[in-house]
Amino acid sequence: MAVVQNRSRSEWQDLDRDHYLHPFTDHKDLGKKKSRIIARADGVYIYDVDGKKILDGMSGLWCVNIGYGREELVSAATRQLRELPYYNSFFQCAHPPSIELSRMLVEVTQPQFNRVFYTGSGSEAIDTMIRMVRQYWQLLGQPGRQTIIARVNAYHGSTVAGASLGGMKAMHGQGGAPLQGIEHIAQPYWFGSDRKLPPDEFGLQVARELDTKIRQVGVEKVAAFVAEPIQGAGGVVIPPATYWPEIQKICDKHGILLITDEVICGFGRLGAWFGADYYGVKPDLMTFAKGVSSGYLPLGGVMVGDRVGDVLIEKGGEFFHGYTYSGHPASCAVAIETLNILKREKLVERVRDDIGPYLQKKWHSLAEHPMVGETRMVGLMGALELVKSKSPITKFSSDQGVGVICRDILVNNGLVMRAVGDTIVVAPPLVLTHAEADELIDKARKCLDLTLAAVKK
Ligand SMILES: *Cc1c(COP(=O)(O)O)cnc(C)c1O
Repeated sequence: MAVVQNRSRSEWQDLDRDHYLHPFTDHKDLGKKKSRIIARADGVYIYDVDGKKILDGMSGLWCVNIGYGREELVSAATRQLRELPYYNSFFQCAHPPSIELSRMLVEVTQPQFNRVFYTGSGSEAIDTMIRMVRQYWQLLGQPGRQTIIARVNAYHGSTVAGASLGGMKAMHGQGGAPLQGIEHIAQPYWFGSDRKLPPDEFGLQVARELDTKIRQVGVEKVAAFVAEPIQGAGGVVIPPATYWPEIQKICDKHGILLITDEVICGFGRLGAWFGADYYGVKPDLMTFAKGVSSGYLPLGGVMVGDRVGDVLIEKGGEFFHGYTYSGHPASCAVAIETLNILKREKLVERVRDDIGPYLQKKWHSLAEHPMVGETRMVGLMGALELVKSKSPITKFSSDQGVGVICRDILVNNGLVMRAVGDTIVVAPPLVLTHAEADELIDKARKCLDLTLAAVKK
């Protein structure tokens, strides 16, 4: 017998409205519009309770990287649930799946990474990282180094620490964030600037804000700089090529830790194992989640480089930190199988050499549309900017909600992409076929036309 009853769409919607508080949702609005109930999924497609088929151009929430319906992951989870559904890794315990996954993660990350700390999510990974960074400097006898520098519009999760470290103003306005000791510098968002500088010069200028901020705060007070290699939830902000090398230089010069939040960029999204690899930087810590288990079960963690790991172990004693579900056996089993599939099907290389370039070329053809001011994409992570006019570039006023109009048209026409203001973002599963990429682009083009018509009205 099915665990979940069969109900009609409207029954689900009414129960949902009455009892279910959703993340990042205006519930008054939801009560009126009713939620879209997704019932099943296969490959790159999701299906709502009415059976409507929708191409998932967002891989769920940037996580279902190897696609839906992968029997290998289902059987990895069920086998593990039968064998050992749960045991903790506190108090000098461990279990084979969490140990095996650690070995595999060390293998796919840069050589400085020899250890991993598990969490249940990206937000928890961020909290772990913050505590670890501050503990590291404490152990080195520099307890004054508490300040962590992040970026405006960054997304680092929704716990108090994650919301604080993130640079989203709306989140800072609620629930007691931001925590003390967190500073934000500008994001390398060329299209969002006045576009007077060439992108490479702009990239250098924005990177050098880190240097300025470190001097303002005082070098002896700064612990680390944290950033997503490419900002995801902030609108797929792809930095100019000059940006990351300059950031690395500044971190090295001041001796502060460099941390990449790889929750979205990690595990092949950019056509490299990690965003740090793609940009050629050498982080001291990396936070991850989402793609590590392809979203089938929750898992996150922090890759700990030797610079930090050696100090924590040699001088640290007990680190009073951990989660009940740190290294959950079933999640680890699913992650092991996800990594096996990424390797076996050469999906990282596929994004770099095949489907990535294929989709990018088509995506850039959308720039010819009268409503598109810019297209950008690295690997399978991209964005386009909706504009009122193209020369000179004029943006819509934000109260027109053009991005949301476009997003709703998209989903009604069978394609999920997300709106971040008037930026439409895309991050399809890494298993996307050429035919599915064609479908994605055809639907996107058609919906841009429909959006243009709707906005003109
Ligand atoms: C999603 C995300 C997080 C938070 O992960 P959760 O699993 O939702 O807690 C952190 N950082 C980045 C870059 C993310 O995209």
